[in-house]
Amino acid sequence: PLPIVAIIGRPNVGKSTVVNRLAGVQEAIVYDEPGVTRDRTYKPAYWRDREFMVVDTGGLVFDDDTEFLPLIREQALTALAEASAAIFIVDGMTGPTGGDLEIAEWLRQQPVPVLVAVNKCESVEHGIMQAMEFWELGLGEPYPVSGIHGSGTGDLLDELLKLL
Ligand code: GDP
Ligand code: MG
Repeated sequence: PLPIVAIIGRPNVGKSTVVNRLAGVQEAIVYDEPGVTRDRTYKPAYWRDREFMVVDTGGLVFDDDTEFLPLIREQALTALAEASAAIFIVDGMTGPTGGDLEIAEWLRQQPVPVLVAVNKCESVEHGIMQAMEFWELGLGEPYPVSGIHGSGTGDLLDELLKLL
């Protein structure tokens, strides 16, 4: 079986955009689980002759138990349980938020290596500054990327392959 990479993060940070960028294809395998409205989507991805699956997950929110949020947390946990590595996507335009810090703390308790990808860093010089702010998550070097432009994903993927 191919190694699995779980994509984790708050709503609207650009998880799905980054997944589509990494996978480079739009087709997804959606695992239907009865009673689960926010299914995980698996997409095959390739980098430097290596193949793996990226799993998109719903936006993680810890301080709110309304609607489907507890279910999404369960989904993220399920994705992490089978993952060889996780990419924690954060929003370089907002900078670190309380929600990011909560997710970071939760991720540190999981037995999976984590890479921090700082999305929405279209401007390369500014992106380096934006990414620096996320050292405070305590999860190592933050990698600036832009899911929309595709910039920065090469460095992120090179680092990712070391973990698979
Ligand atoms: P998700 O909820 O984390 O899956 O986020 P989405 O992928 O649905 O994106 C949320 C919003 O962020 C959308 O309006 C995207 O167009 C925007 N977005 C995603 N990636 C980027 C990026 O690299 N740069 C900018 N500026 N916006 C982005
Ligand atoms: Mg999404």
